[in-house]
Amino acid sequence: MGCSVGVQGDRPRASDPATASAASTAAPIDRGRSERTQRLLDDFVATARRGGSTAALVSARDPVFAARAAVWAANLGRVDWSQMSWTAGTRSTDLAPSSRTAPGAWVQSVVVRWALPGQARVAQEELWLTFADEAGADGGPATIVIAGDGAGPRGDAPAPIWWQQAVTLQRAGSTLLLTARPAGTWLEEAAAARDAVRKRIGTADRDPDGPLVVELPQSRAVFEQTLGVTSTSYAGVAAAAWPMGPETSSAPIHVVVNPELTAQLSDLGREVLLTHEAVHVATRSPGSPAPTWLVEGYADQIAYRAHPAGRAPAEKAVRELVREKGAPSTWPTEADFAPDAADLDLAYDLAWTAARSIASAYGDDALNRFYAALDRGESMEEAAERIGTTPKQLRQRWRADLADLAGR
Ligand SMILES: [Zn+2]
Repeated sequence: MGCSVGVQGDRPRASDPATASAASTAAPIDRGRSERTQRLLDDFVATARRGGSTAALVSARDPVFAARAAVWAANLGRVDWSQMSWTAGTRSTDLAPSSRTAPGAWVQSVVVRWALPGQARVAQEELWLTFADEAGADGGPATIVIAGDGAGPRGDAPAPIWWQQAVTLQRAGSTLLLTARPAGTWLEEAAAARDAVRKRIGTADRDPDGPLVVELPQSRAVFEQTLGVTSTSYAGVAAAAWPMGPETSSAPIHVVVNPELTAQLSDLGREVLLTHEAVHVATRSPGSPAPTWLVEGYADQIAYRAHPAGRAPAEKAVRELVREKGAPSTWPTEADFAPDAADLDLAYDLAWTAARSIASAYGDDALNRFYAALDRGESMEEAAERIGTTPKQLRQRWRADLADLAGR
């Protein structure tokens, strides 16, 4: 069961409106319209956050959309956001009149920025909304309303979990869980994972004060759209440590859980998974120049040190592989970790044995330092030298460990 570490390239950027069919006439928006749009967005956010009714700010022509907008409003009011802003983009396009929108409706980009209590980094997504001027119910003057969210050039672009479903925020110290109730034992297990990681990763820690944010979507579809990946392409991925914004280096990294796959996990399996993901968050794995076998092997090594009973299936899989085909001569490649790779689980298990081999030969602290060196962008030779060895020796020792494992 794989995990995935988001990298910038994995995140499709929201399309340029000029290239999208629904927005083929995109033009710089006139200032008056832009200011009215911004006032509406500010009004929506402020009203929702104080628990007021946003019904008058949303078109009633499309009841499905109106219900979705009511979910946003409820989420805005329910969660104690430390930051929440919706900023109108500078370009828009007019829409042909349809049954769902009034004449003169237009589509416009909206950048949402949001942060949770204790988060210094701010998540950011570009979304698209439809706006319209609609006459009041009493035939009064037309007022601007939010009229839809389906007409923009969205494709597989990511959207926040709270844009897609009802959420509550649950907290345990510096661990935060966004999900619909009930969430079972996820929060306490995530908090334990954060503690276990902080205790073990030493110099590899890149964000010592950062909270651990876990998002638990209600469906696989929400999981996929939260990441912004094609439908079903991440069906085999149990959870992802994902940068929540277009700039991987500055975005907060959240753990997003695949509810379908994790429903089958034992308590121990969930604890191992959360600890593994918490390593990615604490080391800010997404965007790290370290090779993927080390990023994943290191996360598993920390997770199995915290939960030794969890390593048996990985040991068994590697033992069978080596007995059948011999020990591999090289560390797993980048392609071995593609979300749809045929032997994804085996790539993780092999990577773990490679990381474990370093820890057992040179010590846990040496593995932390080796990881930190590669994470800083040092070469494999330089990183190995820091713990008094060479890449060749590391591979030889790993292969000897694998032969040893197969003999047991
Ligand atoms: Zn991972």
